[in-house]
Amino acid sequence: MDTVTEWEMAIAMALMGGIGIIHSNNTAEEQASHVRRVKKYEQGFINNPVTLRPNDTVRDLLETKEKHGFSGIPKKREAKLLKLIYSKISFQDELVALISRTDIRKNRDYPLASKDSSKQLLVGASISTRMEDRERVRLLVDAGVDVIVIDSSQGNSMYQIEMVKFIKDKYPHLQVIGGNVVTQNQAFNLIKAGVDCLRIGMGSGSICITQEVCAVGRPQGTAVFRVCELAKKYGVPCIADGGIKNVGHVTKALSLGASTVMMGSLLAATSESPGEYFYQDGVRLKKYRGMGSLDAMKHKASQSRYFSDKSQIKVAQGVSGAVQDRGSIYDYIPYLIAGVKHGKQDLGIKSIREMHKCLYSGELRFERRSAAARGEGGVHGLHHFEKKLY
Ligand code: NAD
Repeated sequence: MDTVTEWEMAIAMALMGGIGIIHSNNTAEEQASHVRRVKKYEQGFINNPVTLRPNDTVRDLLETKEKHGFSGIPKKREAKLLKLIYSKISFQDELVALISRTDIRKNRDYPLASKDSSKQLLVGASISTRMEDRERVRLLVDAGVDVIVIDSSQGNSMYQIEMVKFIKDKYPHLQVIGGNVVTQNQAFNLIKAGVDCLRIGMGSGSICITQEVCAVGRPQGTAVFRVCELAKKYGVPCIADGGIKNVGHVTKALSLGASTVMMGSLLAATSESPGEYFYQDGVRLKKYRGMGSLDAMKHKASQSRYFSDKSQIKVAQGVSGAVQDRGSIYDYIPYLIAGVKHGKQDLGIKSIREMHKCLYSGELRFERRSAAARGEGGVHGLHHFEKKLY
């Protein structure tokens, strides 16, 4: 979503073991540059470092530093390292690869970071099912994207199936997440088309009005359970997308069969989400909007994406609003991780894998909770209280 994930959020998510999906409510070049920024944030062995040639001058060195922000630049003739210009130190030898001290530090500080085989952070990007987004995929692949999310409220369409087949044919190693789906039938068609993962949820997001406007959707718990039940038979993992309002909802989604969750409002209005903070009635807020809201659709890229330029009638499937300042993701995600761990501990389950085993063997059981039970399970009977979560 354009109020949740650009490069800053994606870096933070990957450093803490998750992944950010860069929105596509921008030009393909802008989206690719966000991807590139994430991939360049941390490098393991830099096999192809930016270098200077023997005749380059101090001016070239300064320009290279200015452009890339590195402080150590090797000077080489073919494979031969002439000089490593790093503060005041220089070496002679053959250049095989570089590894920087900053990257070693990042590695030490974030040992659980999600990385690819070259030790660069993982990042995803969303695309639409429109024909022109095939070119967007090319730019994203060039920028080093790890996974593509095909973004649609109803994924079981001929447009999406064609897009999945196109990507799998042209870029067989690129992972593709299809969706959204809420039924086994929808899921089956996307699995058959070749998706690596499914995204589940229709109308359950906090800014989504699809169930009201289109009268289509499914309660999220049921959707997650049913789709995961089918996808498991084909070894396809699922993402529960939408409706995660608190850390307990993450545990619920995982225990219903999801392998992970996608969050919007919970990550919006953090220091790392796009946009500026503003004050309203003394409260510090950031904008948060659905990608199907009129506000998002007014954006130039959205207009050409959702409707033909001549189209007059727009049907919003989302709203635009604001979320209260949540501080930094670097404080918030550790709280979410710890909360999920506590949930598992109380369940007596060690891992998501074990959780799913117990789910399908019948060991993990669910009971319908009455309204009275729900009231009892929340804070009650107090004159007043403060709900501080971490
Ligand atoms: P979409 O791009 O799938 O569909 C928009 C319109 O374009 C539809 O009328 C579709 O049929 C048409 N279309 C798509 N590809 C086409 C092609 N190749 N050729 C011709 N026509 C084509 O987007 P959407 O479903 O309207 O969703 C818009 C945004 O809102 C997405 O970001 C989506 O995730 C979000 N959204 C999500 C939910 C949810 O509950 N998960 C609900 C509503 C909206």
